[in-house]
Amino acid sequence: MKLTGQIVLPDRVVSGEVVFDETGIQSVTPRPDAGRRFILPGFIDGHVHGGDGADTMDGVAAIHRLSRFHLTHGTTTILPTTITSPWPEVMDALRAVAEARNAPPGNGPVIHGAHLEGPFVSPHKLGAQPPFAIPPTPDRVEEALETGIVRVVTLAPELDHADTAMRRFAQAGVRVSLGHTVAGYEETEQAICRVCAAGGTIGATHLFNAMAPIQSRNPGPVTALMCSDAGYAEMIFDTHHVHPATFRLASRVMGERLLFVTDAMRGAGQAEGPSQLGGQDVVIRDGAVRLPDGTLAGSVLTLDVALRNAVTVGGVSLPAASRLTATSPAAYLGLHDRGRIAPGLRADLVVMDEKFEVAEVFVGGERVT
Ligand SMILES: [Zn+2]
Repeated sequence: MKLTGQIVLPDRVVSGEVVFDETGIQSVTPRPDAGRRFILPGFIDGHVHGGDGADTMDGVAAIHRLSRFHLTHGTTTILPTTITSPWPEVMDALRAVAEARNAPPGNGPVIHGAHLEGPFVSPHKLGAQPPFAIPPTPDRVEEALETGIVRVVTLAPELDHADTAMRRFAQAGVRVSLGHTVAGYEETEQAICRVCAAGGTIGATHLFNAMAPIQSRNPGPVTALMCSDAGYAEMIFDTHHVHPATFRLASRVMGERLLFVTDAMRGAGQAEGPSQLGGQDVVIRDGAVRLPDGTLAGSVLTLDVALRNAVTVGGVSLPAASRLTATSPAAYLGLHDRGRIAPGLRADLVVMDEKFEVAEVFVGGERVT
């Protein structure tokens, strides 16, 4: 197969041709006048609850449905994400993600694994997570790890058993994403050091959201996370969760350690109005999802929209936007076979028109939409 257009590389855009098959990208060759469509590396969403009416907590068919929905918006690798719920329901959801990954319907993205977001979060910083937060006791951590599907865990480092849990997750190769936390600067720094000392990779769950803000004499977790040379951070750039200037600040400080996620809920892709998140009533209005008290409750974002936002209101270049949707999440998750357009890598590709609307999507060299 062959695609011609403006090829978005991590550091520049090149007019040219990409040749690929199911074994991967064969060549990337500059060619003048290759057309005006853009060819980008497939998007990687490491934090996504739902879409098209489906939620990760609903089981295997729903996971396939939400995965397929995000695929049509350019997401070629996905981590279906749990929400804080009674522990048996969280375990059921993890097993469902494992089953969904092992029995793919053939027209979906790669399900890399699950993001376990909750219940190991602070009961004082739930955001829109339902009130079922519990500490990460060793038995629960082992039970979650036994599913073999957890790739990212959101964890509040101030919880009982958190030190042991962070070390155990890190040793098992699970990204430890600090979030939904009331930890301060020092506590966050210590947690980063613990995870790094255990050989793990640190992340931040939707940086700025569900954690204390930066203050002059109280730098808080955001400063610790942004200034750590080792850690990555997720950002929901739907322009509701963070102001464009806040995005630019994080982008300048963190560079390639910042990555986009959607944190999308089941209402993504559906008409605005009443919906549900974790069994709670929410309302979708003007592109934002809120609980009755006004708290933001996930998003209806897709990564193609996040990419457009980064370029149009975020003020970054197209290669920089593509790093946020593909290159940096791949690096964070240790997916060295994707996230860039280069010979030898997987042919996970998104073709966008001049208005950055998704036109075609390829997963493993196969056209899927
Ligand atoms: Zn979430």
